[in-house]
Amino acid sequence: MPSGRRCTRLCLALSDRSAPAPSPPLARLPEEWAKETVRLGGRAFHGKSVFRWIMMRGISDPAQMTDLPKALREGLTASGLGPVLSVIPGTRSEDRTRKLLVRLADGATVETVLIPGVSGERRLGRGVQDEEIVDADAAAAVDDEDEEEEEGAKPEGKSYLRVTQCISTQVGCAMGCVFCASGVAGLKRNLGPDEIVAQVLAGKAELDPDERLRNIVYMGMGEPLHNYVSTARSLALLTHLDGLAISPRRITVSTSGLVPEIARLGEDFKGQIGLAISLHAADDETRTRLMPINKKYPLAKLMDALRAYPLARRRRITIEYTLVAGRNDEPAEAKKLASLLRGLPVKINLIPMNPIEASTLGPPTSARTLEFQRVLLDTGYSVFIRRRRGDDVAAACGQLALLGAKPKVRVDRG
Ligand code: SAH
Ligand code: SF4
Repeated sequence: MPSGRRCTRLCLALSDRSAPAPSPPLARLPEEWAKETVRLGGRAFHGKSVFRWIMMRGISDPAQMTDLPKALREGLTASGLGPVLSVIPGTRSEDRTRKLLVRLADGATVETVLIPGVSGERRLGRGVQDEEIVDADAAAAVDDEDEEEEEGAKPEGKSYLRVTQCISTQVGCAMGCVFCASGVAGLKRNLGPDEIVAQVLAGKAELDPDERLRNIVYMGMGEPLHNYVSTARSLALLTHLDGLAISPRRITVSTSGLVPEIARLGEDFKGQIGLAISLHAADDETRTRLMPINKKYPLAKLMDALRAYPLARRRRITIEYTLVAGRNDEPAEAKKLASLLRGLPVKINLIPMNPIEASTLGPPTSARTLEFQRVLLDTGYSVFIRRRRGDDVAAACGQLALLGAKPKVRVDRG
């Protein structure tokens, strides 16, 4: 091959990498803001200020960034810095869980859910000897050991209600899982990193004075790893020490099992980001029926990816298992699951399926759910049954409504 040709190809590849598409304003890191503020005639240190205004105070209108020179504020406005979404006020449920319906600039809507008081709030289940019914939702993905670590560091005298926020990464979803409302209409579009982060900023603004944002779970609408670049950028923004500085350990990305991107996430964030896997079956036939993505990344490959994930010390991978009556809820399947997961540091969240309008599938009875749990407990796993909060506002995280495909409010509460 002539060397000139090889060079051209190499140069193209390099230029692809070295010149990624410019970040939308709300997705800029402080160092990128520094360049931008200098370009607009300000100073480099103004870059950090802009980033802090956005991330710490949730202000994206430059006119309100009062410590910046006026000319810079005008330059920032002219260059397109401003809000990327607006919140249509959510309804509050009895337990203070609330859904925020968010309208994006093109009119598309996604949802983000605030779930207060979940982490560390483990309770005894009614009528069950063990402690493994968690009156909680997605935040059951947060690891217990972290809670203990954090307790010691808590400032004396103040007690806040810890809030977990569930965020969306796509409008709709391409994965087509048969029990999921988000998958019903297919993928409409990816969210940008600015739109992902703006959900967190909007959520923070909705918190009551006695609430603190504690955990973030990527369990809303969409498959985060199918929108990897935006998801990764949003993680970099949320964890940046000059901004919200959310500990990566308090963030969990949930995936239906996109094998190459699981490896990429592990590598890019050194295993610090919590990982939740939507497994839902312990054999390929059953899993493919529930989750078409299993055809592309069957269980053997997925398990290899989990074993290779560079998990942080004392962390566990969360295994999500939505129980669907008659499809994956046999005790024999629990046994299969136990062998499949053997040797992996996991905890298992069982989620009785929330019915959706688009499907006749539904949850098993409580007795069946408890039987499934029992098999797993007896083989030594940590197993939690997730009760969904906020059902009265249809806010159950992970089955967010799209295009009128509202989940019915019928949950088997045993
Ligand atoms: N796409 C990602 C994250 C969003 S879904 C994923 O699949 O992991 C978050 C969780 O909610 C997943 O475990 C998903 O399987 C679960 N879920 C979706 N619809 C549900 C329903 N109707 N009932 C119970 N769990 C559901
Ligand atoms: Fe997409 Fe997750 Fe719903 Fe499957 S469960 S369709 S991957 S959002």
